[in-house]
Amino acid sequence: MPPQWELTLLIGALGAVIGSFLNVCIHRLPRGESLVRPRSHCPACGALIRAFDNVPLLSFLWLRGRCRGCRAAISIRYPAVELLNGLGYVLLWRRFGWTPDALIYGVFFSALVVVTFIDWDHQIIPNRITLPGIVVGLVSAATVLTGSFVDAVIGAALGGGLLYAVAVASEWVLKKEGMGLGDVKLLAMIGAFLGWKAVLVTVFVGALGGSLVGLALMALKLKRREDPIPFGPFLAVGAVSALFAGPELIAWYLRLGA
Ligand SMILES: [Zn+2]
Repeated sequence: MPPQWELTLLIGALGAVIGSFLNVCIHRLPRGESLVRPRSHCPACGALIRAFDNVPLLSFLWLRGRCRGCRAAISIRYPAVELLNGLGYVLLWRRFGWTPDALIYGVFFSALVVVTFIDWDHQIIPNRITLPGIVVGLVSAATVLTGSFVDAVIGAALGGGLLYAVAVASEWVLKKEGMGLGDVKLLAMIGAFLGWKAVLVTVFVGALGGSLVGLALMALKLKRREDPIPFGPFLAVGAVSALFAGPELIAWYLRLGA
């Protein structure tokens, strides 16, 4: 057992409970539905999900992945999002301890989880996440975060500006929309939370990861060349890499060139 395993479990459980709300956001935000009403229903039979069948992770296990009413399979996506968010919070707590940074980055991490799955499903990144996200990132940097406010402003401007230039250039070269403005606002949000160096790490890791996964999906014949692969999830993975290992990744990259 790792040290302080009771606290680890507690923080993981908190992350899973919030992850359960993130599932609601992922499902309802792109449909323009309210996040609080109505209460959760089975998508197959419409039965209201009772409180004791709505416990993060555990309900999925004791229901064996099926609705209590109609036995329709529940997507593995739901417990996966809960587990991911729980794991993220534990890692943030271990990395940043009892600091405002851990709390703010928890909010940031959860926003990235929601963006990732919505973009993967619908090829959109909701403004209702990225625009408030930019504000929260800048305000946090100006107040409680360890990083500097100037760094955050440069990060947001660089993130937005960099991808906006790519979007305009690719539209001009390819004569079609190569990159959505959702990606532009997402990278601005990432810059606001993490600063300008993290923007470079995010773009590098995101572009590398996106190309590799895109090639793999085409090789496995799961996607065709003309099928869109959303960039948001890869930017999110890049941002999390920068959050946990930004300085190490920069040092490693600079050594490659030396
Ligand atoms: Zn059902």
